[in-house]
Amino acid sequence: MNIRRNILLNPGPATTTDTVKMAQVVPDICPREKEFADIMKGLRRDLVKVVHGDDRYTSVLFCGSGTINIDVCLNSLLPAEGSVLVADNGSYSSRGADVCRYYGLPLVDLKLPFDRPIDPAEVERALDENPGVAVVYACHHETGTGVLNPIREIGAVAHAHGCIFVVDTTSSYAMLPIDIAADNVDFLFASAQKGLMSMTGLSFVVGREDMIKASAAYPRRSYYCNLFMQYDCFEKTGEMHFTPPVQTVYATIQAMKEYWAEGETAKFARHRRVFEAIHAGLAELGFKCLIRREHQSGLVVAVRYPDDPRWSFEKVHDYCYERGFTIYPGKVGSAGTFRLCALGAIDAPDIVAFFKVFKEALDAIGAKVVYNG
Ligand SMILES: *Cc1c(COP(=O)(O)O)cnc(C)c1O
Repeated sequence: MNIRRNILLNPGPATTTDTVKMAQVVPDICPREKEFADIMKGLRRDLVKVVHGDDRYTSVLFCGSGTINIDVCLNSLLPAEGSVLVADNGSYSSRGADVCRYYGLPLVDLKLPFDRPIDPAEVERALDENPGVAVVYACHHETGTGVLNPIREIGAVAHAHGCIFVVDTTSSYAMLPIDIAADNVDFLFASAQKGLMSMTGLSFVVGREDMIKASAAYPRRSYYCNLFMQYDCFEKTGEMHFTPPVQTVYATIQAMKEYWAEGETAKFARHRRVFEAIHAGLAELGFKCLIRREHQSGLVVAVRYPDDPRWSFEKVHDYCYERGFTIYPGKVGSAGTFRLCALGAIDAPDIVAFFKVFKEALDAIGAKVVYNG
């Protein structure tokens, strides 16, 4: 196949293999056929297996970008009496709080510093002060900053208070090893185009089947985005309630094969190599990071803009983009940052090639990597 290989250093969608790209080219099929239901059944099982879930866990697929999972989990898993506590230390956990506000769900928005992991003791204190909380919500890897949160410890606190623990693992699933039960997680979710290195349009929730069944009795706050409704449809018919993203499902089945072939440990090690190569390249040029190294996930590096007035993210981006490398702006309120991410079907030599072009870009605009403070 003759498709140019772009190196995406944005936080998803990720660079894919040619075999995953090609897996989308299949004979036309109506997704209501049994053949299609059968392949989704296998995929649902595999999605649970990636996080080492046993038969207490199931997965439910949705057609949409990753944010659909945030919507689904928060509107579906809250009983009539109860509130949601969001451990909020970045733009993705804030999105969970926003979803609660849109649905008018009772919310405890526990604002925590964005530049370090969530302190489980803060969550514990908030739960002690707010006895009505039924759902604790956090983001595993805050993609905006690259901060990794201690979900196992937060989950233990949530469970000690009798709460369901829901975690956004969109930017860690299939990249960092996760053990759903040992990590004290009841529900987690991701989308196909990040850790699995597939295409956009398919998202999924993995969680406790008994809790999904119990949620049938909770208030129904959405028609399209109800977790029990979609689960029930899968169980009864093997199909999504509404039209699935057919080609993305085929691509994801291929991506899953490639995930098992590479293996959890080897894939984790490859992402680490890419991350280390990113740090090495940045250090050589004198760039500074926003987040302390020990707080970083190993998947996203948020880099501070240099203080040289000639620096221009847009110009550097365009120079790199024209040469097949995509860099991404930051997502932190005040500080000027950009991001380099270790997702996707890339390895350390791609990063070495990137830094060659990146350095050329700096030279082309005459920018120096200097910091005033
Ligand atoms: C990418 C991402 C999402 C989903 O974003 P979409 O644009 O809807 O795909 C949600 N949470 C985290 C942590 C993410 O990295």
